[in-house]
Amino acid sequence: MNIKENIERISAGLPEGVRLIAVSKTKPAEAIEEAYAWGQRAFGENRPQEMASKYRLLPKDIEWHMIGQLQEKNVKYIAPFVRLIHSVDSLKLLVKIEREAAKCARTIDCLLEFHIAEETTKSGLTYEQAVAIMESEEYKMLENVRITGVMGIATYTENTEQVRREFRELKQIFLRLKEHYFSGKPEFREISMGMSGDYRIAVEEGCTMVRIGSSIFGQREYQH
Ligand SMILES: *Cc1c(COP(=O)(O)O)cnc(C)c1O
Repeated sequence: MNIKENIERISAGLPEGVRLIAVSKTKPAEAIEEAYAWGQRAFGENRPQEMASKYRLLPKDIEWHMIGQLQEKNVKYIAPFVRLIHSVDSLKLLVKIEREAAKCARTIDCLLEFHIAEETTKSGLTYEQAVAIMESEEYKMLENVRITGVMGIATYTENTEQVRREFRELKQIFLRLKEHYFSGKPEFREISMGMSGDYRIAVEEGCTMVRIGSSIFGQREYQH
């Protein structure tokens, strides 16, 4: 795997306004350094402790993106430095992020993760659950978290029409939330969708961030 070539090729294919999050989960710090040397600054991880130990080892201008399911008890490991949490799927988690962010005197940006795939195993909110969060008193009290957009994972399938439908659904969810809860809030602007196998479709459907791992760093030894 030539990390530099992969980043160069993928970046060149992304339109302006779409950021590449290089998903480095399970990969050693050396692989991140190689991508960093080529200019990549945003990296995605899905295990808080792994992210924290890489944070300690690597240059401090790296942006760390949490893309995996996050347990409340683990928020503390990443709160001091995480740039964006893509995977917020409950009010309880938001409240926990608020507390840990306040301890660090930070505001942490978060995306609401939506369930758009057909598999029942994939995590994420329904639109109705997101509305319940937005209208709750606890949400209105939050001062140290900021919702800046939405995230979703499409079904793992060869059926590109289905994947496209799911990405369209996420875009619609984004637009509805924007209209009802974030009008006049320019920071609500991110649509995180698309992985190695489907990011071209996500770009066509209007994402602002793609999360790409194996097409940059090669296959992982194990998947989570
Ligand atoms: C692992 C992972 C990715 C990257 O997957 P690839 O297929 O290796 O590009 C993207 N998003 C999430 C949420 C992931 O867990």
